[in-house]
Amino acid sequence: MQVETNQIVTFHYDVTTAEGVEVDSSRGRAPMSALLGHGNLIRGVEDALIGRQAGDHFTLDLAPEAAYGPVQEGLRQRVSKKYFRDPRRLRAGAQALLESRDGPRWVTVLKVGQSVVDVDLNHPLAGQTLHFVIDITAVRAATPEELEHGHAHGEGGHSH
Ligand code: ZN
Repeated sequence: MQVETNQIVTFHYDVTTAEGVEVDSSRGRAPMSALLGHGNLIRGVEDALIGRQAGDHFTLDLAPEAAYGPVQEGLRQRVSKKYFRDPRRLRAGAQALLESRDGPRWVTVLKVGQSVVDVDLNHPLAGQTLHFVIDITAVRAATPEELEHGHAHGEGGHSH
């Protein structure tokens, strides 16, 4: 079965930066399952999966534009500490989870003040060229329920 939009692809992946720093890996845990064509994966990975099949192993280098986008100016903001789950653990240079209007979002802490925090809202991987190693372990049709929800169910997907 060839990978197409609206199918569930299950795969193992390693992601490293252009400098070889490991960002994420599924090895040693369950592979990831994703419904294609519903914005569940970054565009460059989704495009590279199309037309492949179970058992395929491939590598991929994605420029920022095909991954998490370029670093955008003007995304520095001063926010109240109350929007962080654990304000006492905020440290300049570290990532922190900000409770934004659109849901929780990872930001980079620039400066911690008494009651406010300066943060950079760019995705931590913005501006990075990323190297992927991907092994497709399974491909299957999505169920009507998965298509309705817009994501994969079962192992490596959503359980609810
Ligand atoms: Zn669901």
